[in-house]
Amino acid sequence: VSSVETLEFQAETRQLLRLVIHSIYSNKDIFLRELISNASDALDKLRLESLTDSSLESDTADLHISLEVDDDARTLTVRDNGIGMTRDDLVELIGTIAKSGTAGLLEKIKESKDAATAENLIGQFGVGFYSAFMVADKVTLHTRRAGTSEGTAWESDGEGTYDIRSVDGLPVGTSVTLHLKPADSEDGLADYLSPAKIRQVVKQYSDFIRWPIRMAAERTDAEGATTVEADTLNSMKALWARSRSEVTQDEYNEFYQQISHDWLPPAETIHMRAEGTFEYEALLFIPAQAPIDLFSRESSRGVQLYVKRVFIMDDCEALMPDYLRFVKGVVDAHDLSLNVSRELLQHDRQIHGVRRRLVKKVLGAVKDMQSKDAERYAKVWDQFGRALKEGLLEDTDNTEALLDLVSAASTHDPEKTTTLRQYVERMKDGQDTIYYLTGETRAMVENSPHMEAFTAKGYEVLILTDPVDEVWVDRVPAYDGRPLRSIAKGQVDLDESADNGEDADAEKARREEDFAALLSWLSTTLSEQVKQVRLSSRLTTSAACIVGDAHDVTPTLEKMYRAMGQ
Ligand code: ADP
Ligand code: MG
Repeated sequence: VSSVETLEFQAETRQLLRLVIHSIYSNKDIFLRELISNASDALDKLRLESLTDSSLESDTADLHISLEVDDDARTLTVRDNGIGMTRDDLVELIGTIAKSGTAGLLEKIKESKDAATAENLIGQFGVGFYSAFMVADKVTLHTRRAGTSEGTAWESDGEGTYDIRSVDGLPVGTSVTLHLKPADSEDGLADYLSPAKIRQVVKQYSDFIRWPIRMAAERTDAEGATTVEADTLNSMKALWARSRSEVTQDEYNEFYQQISHDWLPPAETIHMRAEGTFEYEALLFIPAQAPIDLFSRESSRGVQLYVKRVFIMDDCEALMPDYLRFVKGVVDAHDLSLNVSRELLQHDRQIHGVRRRLVKKVLGAVKDMQSKDAERYAKVWDQFGRALKEGLLEDTDNTEALLDLVSAASTHDPEKTTTLRQYVERMKDGQDTIYYLTGETRAMVENSPHMEAFTAKGYEVLILTDPVDEVWVDRVPAYDGRPLRSIAKGQVDLDESADNGEDADAEKARREEDFAALLSWLSTTLSEQVKQVRLSSRLTTSAACIVGDAHDVTPTLEKMYRAMGQ
């Protein structure tokens, strides 16, 4: 047995440890994620090295991670039979922080005014192994590097020094033993001796780790005899990391239901892998049914971010725009830090690239459905069309793609909706405008006096009854080069001039003379209510109708604004 050597942590490490111990993080659960991810990396390394280096002579038949609880000693141990560390590795990897920019970052953390800013900064940096000191007042580590005979023990209370000594007879791999601080709910310190708590944290953060994470469980059978069995806590089913040809739709559906808590299978599954400078896998789903809170402010996005199979965050807004909040799934990026923060993601150029690509994929999938499976498309549009139309306000990069997806009621067919493409294909000779009318209900729109001339002359009019329709039709100038125009706004000159030529002009002048007295009386009487009274050619049976100026807000929109208090 060799003597104990006491070494000092590097100055930056000491500062970082102080920050960690004095509870920078409000979410203490993540310590387990960090230790499990280190163990998983160590198993990966051993498997890889043993493939190329037969001198390691290590047993890779049962690579796994085990979690061990000792209630009396109040310890939790995370053990792996992975690559392990030499004494030098330990001093270098655990005793010092080699990351560049450490000093500057620590300075910023010290200067930060509030805990949230500090937490965010330190999160960007990553505390890794040191996060153990959030929950433990002493950490003991035993390790032996594969291919070496000497083992090392390391121990520290995180206060500035650590003890290190050689130990004989250790197995290859690493065990990290946490001497747990007492549980303290006010401080966010859960009881990490509780098997239920451990299971929950593993399920939440490490379910898709590719190595088994085992924990002993005592079971009492009918005769009262107790047996101890090792349970595997994680499902290891990282479907997204498998190739598409290896996964059945049933497996996709089961996975979807697990992450979404939906009882229906998804309407669409999108599985992709990107290779190159920024590698990631994405497995996305379009649900069959919209959640009830799709239009409430609290509605969250359904895309989770993983880094190399370690769960990082739910509801990753940097990966999916607001209007696609109904899309569920997982993005696993390989080249991000485990501690990447939301703020950092929002400004990351590569993440922007990923998001652009995912949006195109989702819109492309709906478009495909439209041409290949009209019925399924109709259901998806029925559930998510309103959200997709919000995209016409937010996402100008994809206006054309979104317009292609729009379905709307139309005067063409009372039973069926139409796409804009189909509308354009039916347009009359010489018609260059897509006509629409907004309103609260189909009946109200159909019975509007504005409709009369259009119906009489056989022009198709889109019937838009969604509140959001009012807004997007205003923002989108044209589809496929054809302007969109409300038939309730401005002067509508259908085909009069083409029809009638000079005679019509003379006729119009004569009619205006006939009605001059009435028009001027109406103008005076209604001067408070309307801007102008004019003779119209748009009516066939109604005597009069109210029209807006070309740039006025429509009545429905006016109502909406008023309801919003504007
Ligand atoms: P990171 O994982 O980001 O490198 P950590 O602080 O979590 O940072 O770990 C520091 C280093 O310590 C790791 O990169 C690894 O080399 C080593 N290490 C930590 N835990 C283990 C382990 N269980 N087995 C082998 N090496 C480990
Ligand atoms: Mg780590």
